[in-house]
Amino acid sequence: MTASHRDRRSGQPVFRFAPSPTGTLHIGHAYSALLNERLARETGGRLLLRIEDTDTTRCRPQFEASIIADLDWLGIAFDEPPRRQSDHFPLYDKAARTLRQKRLLYPCFASRSEIAEAVAHIEATGEAWPRDPDGSPHYPGIWRDAPDGEVAGRIAAGEPHAWRIDMARALDGVSVDDLAYEEFPDETATRTTRVSRDPSVWGDFVIVRKDAPASFHLAGVVDEDVQGVTDVVRGQDLAQATGLHRLLQHHLGLVPPRYRHHRLIAGEDGEKLSKSRGSLALAALREAGESARDIRARLGFAQAG
Ligand code: GLU
Repeated sequence: MTASHRDRRSGQPVFRFAPSPTGTLHIGHAYSALLNERLARETGGRLLLRIEDTDTTRCRPQFEASIIADLDWLGIAFDEPPRRQSDHFPLYDKAARTLRQKRLLYPCFASRSEIAEAVAHIEATGEAWPRDPDGSPHYPGIWRDAPDGEVAGRIAAGEPHAWRIDMARALDGVSVDDLAYEEFPDETATRTTRVSRDPSVWGDFVIVRKDAPASFHLAGVVDEDVQGVTDVVRGQDLAQATGLHRLLQHHLGLVPPRYRHHRLIAGEDGEKLSKSRGSLALAALREAGESARDIRARLGFAQAG
């Protein structure tokens, strides 16, 4: 373990579980939280809880309360009170300012339907338009090179806008090596390998949302730093996002934690779980009579003790 992977304050590894309160927790979240708990315990590290509620349109206080109740029921003890991202918007705004000063972000006034229309227009010509790892088409660049005067006028008039990363500019002069980081290949690995993930797969992704002062990507990298997180352990569905996070860390001058992307727990029908799928929600399992011990056993974790 290198010095950069020990918390600057305590010298201990620091893990975190970072749910978004856009729904209740299911068994896949339990797996992630329990894996973080186990790794923290095995390495003599600390475990933090971060509530990622930057998406003010979808996050609800009752989901936060149910998440905390479920984690408590599972018997997972965190070493600090939860950090709620919506309490720290000025901090993310400061990071966004740094990126804007480097001219790596540009404002985008386009609506979803304008973007969809522009993509449809391109595809109608027979051109294959790239999709990001989540399956959404890359931003078609509508506002990328807009005249400064028009942009300034719209901002001055208070027109709502997102801030997108100018991916080509952000990667200009940046080598694969600059974005390399330490990753554990799977949940059982005890050694990291040095890897790099290409952030350009995301296109000109939104870094500051139109309806919120940050995005989960920006707030997350800022918080890993502020909280002294040494080890990000999260699902494989976020593995590609790590490339984008590394790019943001690079431009913000932040030391990357180590990453570990764990397997996803599939639903009974083999499908990926989402918060909206009811039957494997922790609350439903609890009501069906399962104990926290049963859940731990089902997921391959011994009882806390
Ligand atoms: N808040 C994200 C989610 O619930 C997880 C982010 C992370 O672990 O980095 O999907």
